[in-house]
Amino acid sequence: MEKEFKQHEVLQWASLFLKKHNREEKVAELLLQHFLHVSRSEFFTMMRDPVPEKVAMRFQDAIEMHAETGVPIQHIIGHEEFYGRKFSVNEHTLIPRPETEELVQQVIETTPDEPLTIADIGTGSGIIALTLALELPQATVYATDISQDALTVARQNAKQLGADVTFLQGDFLTPLIGKKTDIIVSNPPYIAHQDKAGLVDTVKKFDPELALFADENGLASYRQIIEDLPHVINDHAAIFFEIGDRQGEAIRALLSEQFPTSNVQIIKDINKKDRIIQ
Ligand code: GLN
Repeated sequence: MEKEFKQHEVLQWASLFLKKHNREEKVAELLLQHFLHVSRSEFFTMMRDPVPEKVAMRFQDAIEMHAETGVPIQHIIGHEEFYGRKFSVNEHTLIPRPETEELVQQVIETTPDEPLTIADIGTGSGIIALTLALELPQATVYATDISQDALTVARQNAKQLGADVTFLQGDFLTPLIGKKTDIIVSNPPYIAHQDKAGLVDTVKKFDPELALFADENGLASYRQIIEDLPHVINDHAAIFFEIGDRQGEAIRALLSEQFPTSNVQIIKDINKKDRIIQ
């Protein structure tokens, strides 16, 4: 670029480019803020300032790559916010979703202030386990994942955030067999294979398949976890799952079969969709 462009002009170019490619325009601000290394409030006071040429070029490359290929901006900038904290993410981990913040909120609100043990199953980038460890200092927290690559990201996040979590590699509950936990939390893969075609590009092409899909109409993960639950929990344990919006009754049935006296609640998210099982 020969001429220096002002920040609002650079953003305007990006918005138009994104729109032309049917991508969300709001990613432009997030990306430019990232490349400028400024806070959100500083960013908005700088609208009439020129953008340094190097920054403008990196920004242009990133916008073009996102618009043309659909690579999520979280993969370009390397992190996403979850429950007020920054978590590193990459191609081996699911990008944190706001629905999962509601799951974590539900656990925090209902957990008593006494020493107890929590396990996050399929931790991915570690968002659930680390947030709970930081918000509930009375808890001893375990996190499992089958993917060694995901655990590398989760461990890095734990170090970055100063959270004390024990990571165990293995399939769902397997690495916990023999432990007695009080709370089990999981956002397991729950999308049915046949629903893949309907997903947006950024999810379909860039979130890890291992984190998204499950057999039996997406119910296989819950079934496997529920079958193993008796081997890893205490008598009065609480179970929290994030669920797909049409899976509530099927999962309630699986839980009631395994624990006939339990009281299973299906809780809606802010979009009024069934999202949490407790
Ligand atoms: N627990 C992680 C999250 O909620 C990973 C979930 C997954 O990979 N299915 O983002």
